[in-house]
Amino acid sequence: MSENLFLIPSPFYRCAGPNCGVLKGGSDRWWVMWSSFGDYEQPVMHLAPWDEKLAVQEGAMHVCGEGCAQKLQSQFMGNVSVSRGRKSNG
Ligand SMILES: [Zn+2]
Repeated sequence: MSENLFLIPSPFYRCAGPNCGVLKGGSDRWWVMWSSFGDYEQPVMHLAPWDEKLAVQEGAMHVCGEGCAQKLQSQFMGNVSVSRGRKSNG
């Protein structure tokens, strides 16, 4: 479990939104999204205002705005319902 994780402060963040890929400028208001499988035994999607500490987390997705956040949320919800659909048959 010891991967080489370097916290390099990257000056460039790219939007994780589908078909977006916009580069973050210094003054842009961006968002950070990430998903975890936490205490609830359910996948949880997190959305937070831009924060450098959150942005460099493992698995963090950098989002340029509301539109891309919604696309990523819908992608996440799609993935979750697919895997839940599989489970409920068991
Ligand atoms: Zn975007």
